[in-house]
Amino acid sequence: MESTMQEAPLTITALFRRGEAVFPDSEVITFQGEGSRHTRFAEVAERVRRLAGALSTLGVRPGDRVGTLCWNTQEHVEAYFAVPCMGAVLHTLNLRLSPQQLGFVINHAADRVVIVDATLVPLLAALRPHLTTVEHVVVVGEADTSALGEVLRYEELLASAPGDFEFPEVDERSAASMCYTTGTTGDPKGVVYSHRSVYLHSFCVWASFRLDDTERVLVIVPQFHVNAWGVPYVAWMVGADMLLPNRFMTPDLMCAFISAERPTFTGGVPTIFTGMLAHVRASGADVSSLKRAVCGGSAVPASLIDAFRDELGIKLIQAWGMTETSPIGTMAIPPKDTPPEKEMYYRSKTGRSVPGVELRVVDEDGGEVARDGAAVGEIEVRGPWITGSYFRADAPEKFDNGWLRTGDVGTIDAKGFVQITDRSKDVIKSGGEWISSVELENLLAGHPAVAEAAVVGVPDERWQERPLATIVLKPGATVEPAELRDFLDGKVAHWWLPERWAFLESLPKTSVGKQDKKVIRAMYAEGSIEVVDTGAASRS
Ligand code: AMP
Repeated sequence: MESTMQEAPLTITALFRRGEAVFPDSEVITFQGEGSRHTRFAEVAERVRRLAGALSTLGVRPGDRVGTLCWNTQEHVEAYFAVPCMGAVLHTLNLRLSPQQLGFVINHAADRVVIVDATLVPLLAALRPHLTTVEHVVVVGEADTSALGEVLRYEELLASAPGDFEFPEVDERSAASMCYTTGTTGDPKGVVYSHRSVYLHSFCVWASFRLDDTERVLVIVPQFHVNAWGVPYVAWMVGADMLLPNRFMTPDLMCAFISAERPTFTGGVPTIFTGMLAHVRASGADVSSLKRAVCGGSAVPASLIDAFRDELGIKLIQAWGMTETSPIGTMAIPPKDTPPEKEMYYRSKTGRSVPGVELRVVDEDGGEVARDGAAVGEIEVRGPWITGSYFRADAPEKFDNGWLRTGDVGTIDAKGFVQITDRSKDVIKSGGEWISSVELENLLAGHPAVAEAAVVGVPDERWQERPLATIVLKPGATVEPAELRDFLDGKVAHWWLPERWAFLESLPKTSVGKQDKKVIRAMYAEGSIEVVDTGAASRS
């Protein structure tokens, strides 16, 4: 029997039309370092239509990829809507990738147009000769673009385009946006979100955090990372003011933006909140407008949740997800009737799956582990906003009969609360972004004095994790850590360079002869290896 319901497609265009029609006076606010630019949704919506019209005139057709190399700005939000709504695919480019990886993902996705922020022109210029598919570069803001060759100017494009571009009807299952994950070894892999997945994910985030037009939402998660956790789409859909920090992400500037624009809700990785807390403690900065913040991307320390509640009056809500999961997968909300003394027990867990996401924990034989909070296995998820494959890349090991194998290892209890205990992957996550241990090891192994190298993630107060490089020297060889750092410099992103170094006689190995990184981490934790520190990490 057929239903009698209308078949309205679940598209980003539908979300866009709602924000445009219902919340003309809500605002997109972009930080300028000093002062902010305020633009009403009505004007942003008109610019979205102009951008779509301009891209269409440039020859962008449904299915074509449009890359963005941008910070969190109004223009980036405009691309978030214009590109998918015209049927093309928004490819957000992670500006923290190494130039080699960035070149790889632009070519792999076959981006035809790249929209770039003025401050990122040098980064793109360095890659430009290696880009095989890019036909047009559109520059947002003022910059010397001579190194890029011929470019188009964002504002000139918009000014010359009609403001009444009509969006076509798109299939809800067609691609809307894509983001490459660098969380695995080897080349980055593309995750492609559909209109339907973004739409349903937006409803889940909306309901999970009960957002509405009384909120002012600060979008700290980079817009190049998993659609900024989907927050711009949700804020637009419910008419919440959207506060965008631009490139001004240091704790002092972030706090200045918060004091001036008074957001009520935000989200970010623990590093951001650790930095914010330290800055408020040192300066007394006023962040009192913030009431709630969702925190994930790495395990959230209970001490951070406590300090936010006790010192700042902010409820830090832990969530878990991945690029592959759009990203929301779990949330750590204590179950009903939790006594106050047990609140923190639940808040510091990874959380329960949100509605729409099915989750199970399986052992090595593929059977579900006991839901006793003790048995350990790999977390697997499935649902309408969980990826089922990668873009033009085979990765059968990542899937298990329709379930995504997350690579995260943990326990599940009788109430469905998950606790991640480890990662099966050995990459390192620093300040919310991945560092590939294998890539560092391979490069270090290329130094004439190095026999063997293993790089592991070790806890770091500021960045959650930083790389520790353990080195076995060739017989008779000597080398200083600073020399090895210089050797890596320029070959990987600057913030990947390890500042902790240790020289060992040999590396611990597993029974099948692989480096045993668990043992190295344990040796570091118990202080049984001598570590040379070459100085604090920077994010430049
Ligand atoms: P990404 O794809 O870069 O967003 O990274 C996803 C990975 O981050 C997950 O597979 C986890 O290993 C890690 N992660 C995300 N949220 C949490 C959390 N709340 N606790 C522990 N690890 C997390």
